[in-house]
Amino acid sequence: MAEKTTLSGKIAILPVALVNQIAAGEVIERPASVVKELIENSIDAGSTRIEVDVKAGGRLLIRVQDDGEGMCREDALLAFQRHATSKVRTDQDLLSIQTLGFRGEALPSIAAVSKVRMATSPQAGSPPPHPPPEADQAEDQAEGTEVLLEGGHLLKVREAGTPPGTLIEIREIFYNTPARLKFLRSVSTELAHISRLLHQQALAHPQISFRLSHEGKLLADFPSVPERMQRIQQVYGRPFTEHLVVLEDEWAKVKIWGAISRPPYTKSTRSYQEIFVNRRAVSSPFILHAVYEAYDISLLKGQHPVVLLFLEMDGPMLDVNVHPTKREVRFHDQRLIYDLIKESVKTGLERISRAELYPPGSRWDTGKTDHVHEAEPAYLKWDHASPATEVQPPSMRSPAFQEPGLVAPHLADRKTESDLPGLSEQVLPLGQIHNTYIIASIRGELWIIDQHAAHERVLYERFLEGIRSSQIPIQRLLIPQTLELPIAQAMILKEWMGYLESVGIEIESFGHKTLIIRSIPTFLARADLQGLILGLLEDWIDLEKTPSAQDRQNSLVATLACHGAVKANEALTSPEIKALLIDILKLPEAVTCPHGRPLRMKFTLRELEVMFRR
Ligand code: ADP
Ligand code: MG
Repeated sequence: MAEKTTLSGKIAILPVALVNQIAAGEVIERPASVVKELIENSIDAGSTRIEVDVKAGGRLLIRVQDDGEGMCREDALLAFQRHATSKVRTDQDLLSIQTLGFRGEALPSIAAVSKVRMATSPQAGSPPPHPPPEADQAEDQAEGTEVLLEGGHLLKVREAGTPPGTLIEIREIFYNTPARLKFLRSVSTELAHISRLLHQQALAHPQISFRLSHEGKLLADFPSVPERMQRIQQVYGRPFTEHLVVLEDEWAKVKIWGAISRPPYTKSTRSYQEIFVNRRAVSSPFILHAVYEAYDISLLKGQHPVVLLFLEMDGPMLDVNVHPTKREVRFHDQRLIYDLIKESVKTGLERISRAELYPPGSRWDTGKTDHVHEAEPAYLKWDHASPATEVQPPSMRSPAFQEPGLVAPHLADRKTESDLPGLSEQVLPLGQIHNTYIIASIRGELWIIDQHAAHERVLYERFLEGIRSSQIPIQRLLIPQTLELPIAQAMILKEWMGYLESVGIEIESFGHKTLIIRSIPTFLARADLQGLILGLLEDWIDLEKTPSAQDRQNSLVATLACHGAVKANEALTSPEIKALLIDILKLPEAVTCPHGRPLRMKFTLRELEVMFRR
């Protein structure tokens, strides 16, 4: 009765394949979701080596090979059945899940939307516990099973000679769901998602070796290491770890290990924040909130610390079964976790003495004194460009670019004092407090200015103007700066080199992951170029969703301006302060930074009188 649909009814049981596709949508969003699920399975299978190869950002092929426990023929077939899992047997098991997977849904969901080949062979000695008594290599391999599926349908099962472990190939993801295929982004964006996922898994499991390659090119190679910090170095590079503070705490059976930034070494992006609970990467706004609370005022608006946090606790203290992609977990005692993290971060930050924060000879130490004595402070360079030098549209390469300090006089004298007579007299700088806020009397009003926000806005406006008129002052670096980026990032950067050149950042690639910066817009003279480039990369990935070219432009320029601007906690010389104040006055409508934060507060005489009840 159930098999036959009646003609009168409108409701029919959906074919299994369709059900699978609908459910798959929840978990399998893009190639990176496949990579995540497959790596998780490999980890759960006790692998010590996991290799991921992808083609076309994962659209054409995702191949994951591991040396884990493998599967016997029966399991190889069961694995693709919905709700088939070896990891959970009873509802009690759900309370203390030790594995990354537990729903038995990933493989069927992936298979429903792709073409799958899996070759697997159990490790000798692993269950089922009846290895052939005198098994030699060849016989071992004959135990392997190969399974082919298409759109969730089993096409073929056969014996295959394959080494112990599991190889799984996912081809043409979404070939049968064109709507979802349409949502995939560029190769480099999908690749960036994949590499972030691999990085997360690698950070959580330093004892496992990981490799990622794209179109045969090795993008990441992380051999197994004993220490988590060594893995962090492998993933982010050695210089990255120089300014990290390590936290290690245990409280009420919750263990925390963390690496966080020392306050001045924060980033302008959130992309260095990863949280792991029992080795599972999770997103947890409330944990991040606890961290930001602990940083308190040492963290400036728009600045984000590096936060790599690893929590370990007993299974019953949390629920991992709350989110389709298992990206979220729930803690039974949220308050405890919150307090523990906040305390731990706070103590960690307090531990670093001021001397450690500003070691003699560090950029922060010399920066201040250099500034005072610098003949031409970096801030002023833009305005004080020598009019004698040549004007060069940044998109043109020419031998003239070999000379340092090329600038566009046009911009420099566009806003000379003579255009706005008397501005200088209207400005009386009174001082700088906490090396962050400028206090000034301006036309008889009391102004408090956030130096970073204000400078950011000034640079932003000038840069946009420079782009409109194709006149961006360029500075050829005397010593070209070399950047090392993770290969996936370096590849994205290569796609954007044309754009970068059009805004005055001239980059050459040098090998797979090494890039050389040859010239920059003059106003970026003080920027940390590595941070800037990483910030831009971040934006690009986000911006692919922004349809308006103008919005994209503005957002990228805001990032450039942010990196070029003076920072908080930076001592400024009197001429620098004065120049900044005048620049602000020239932009009367500018009351916020490009990100919308106020750049100044002002009090009229009348307001002061009211405050003091005069
Ligand atoms: P889950 O991981 O939630 O159990 P999956 O659909 O991801 O569900 O996998 C189903 C089952 O297939 C797993 O429980 C496991 O027994 C087996 N399996 C999947 N991938 C591997 C692998 N790489 N090595 C060994 N066994 C695997
Ligand atoms: Mg799984």
